[in-house]
Amino acid sequence: MRIDIVTIFPGFFGPLQLSLLGKATQRGIIDVRVHDLREWANDPHRTVDDAPFGGGPGMVMTPGPWGEALDSILARAGVDTSSVTPPGGGTRLIVPSPSGVPFRQQSAAGYARCDHLVFACGRYEGIDTRVIEEVGTRVAVDEVSVGDYVLSGGEPAALIMIDAIARLLPGVVGNASSVADDSFGGGTGPMAGLLEGPAYTRPREWRGRVVPEVLLSGDHAAIARWRRDQSLRRTAAHRPDLLGSLPAGALNARDRQVLADAGFPVMAEDVAH
Ligand code: SAM
Repeated sequence: MRIDIVTIFPGFFGPLQLSLLGKATQRGIIDVRVHDLREWANDPHRTVDDAPFGGGPGMVMTPGPWGEALDSILARAGVDTSSVTPPGGGTRLIVPSPSGVPFRQQSAAGYARCDHLVFACGRYEGIDTRVIEEVGTRVAVDEVSVGDYVLSGGEPAALIMIDAIARLLPGVVGNASSVADDSFGGGTGPMAGLLEGPAYTRPREWRGRVVPEVLLSGDHAAIARWRRDQSLRRTAAHRPDLLGSLPAGALNARDRQVLADAGFPVMAEDVAH
């Protein structure tokens, strides 16, 4: 997958050289190119922002450098901009924005099927909206939020999205089943729709805290049941909204008992018979 990133802070993307993403680059699974927006600013000060029309605080990123940067990057990548890419492949422009659509694991899975992603990292009060409108007539554009909070720039949001997308590409994470079993993993296994529970490793006892006996038992069925109980408890405690989204019949009588013991009310129709 090719990933182009446009930013006024190219140094922000140093972490992409590290860890799993660094290895994915070395193996040629991802090809990341970081571009300094100021290369396309035409004045001596390489200005990329101006005061907002209509007044108000802060500055807005001007359309000129953005338009030229995106035209040049799309042309260099050989993107056909004669019509908008249909969903499910090709090139997509992602514009991080707190007012965008929420980024979820499902979005990451969708983007992982694309050949080419371009991230346009805004700063200040964001990018002049005409850039998004105009480029959107030629390439698929998504304004995407990584959460209900405001960052000072699109760079950390782009890093989050690139990490979540790249680890879904074949060959990036060693054990593919660990991705499917993750929280939000989207697998069809016993933990589908639930958060992952707690994990333990050696030593068996640490500062007086012992590993739950069942994990040492070798009884795979008992371990699987314990893990599901823990997932249910954690989901009820941290993200009760997810339990409301489980498909009908996803919870059996034991699950319902675990949730009731955790103080979470479960509707009768959620229970498989
Ligand atoms: N005035 C803007 C608003 O309220 O929508 C916030 C601008 S913010 C200070 C500057 C830039 O940070 C945005 O243009 C966007 O690129 C990025 N950003 C901030 N919060 C974000 C979030 N939750 N998700 C994605 N990008 C975000």
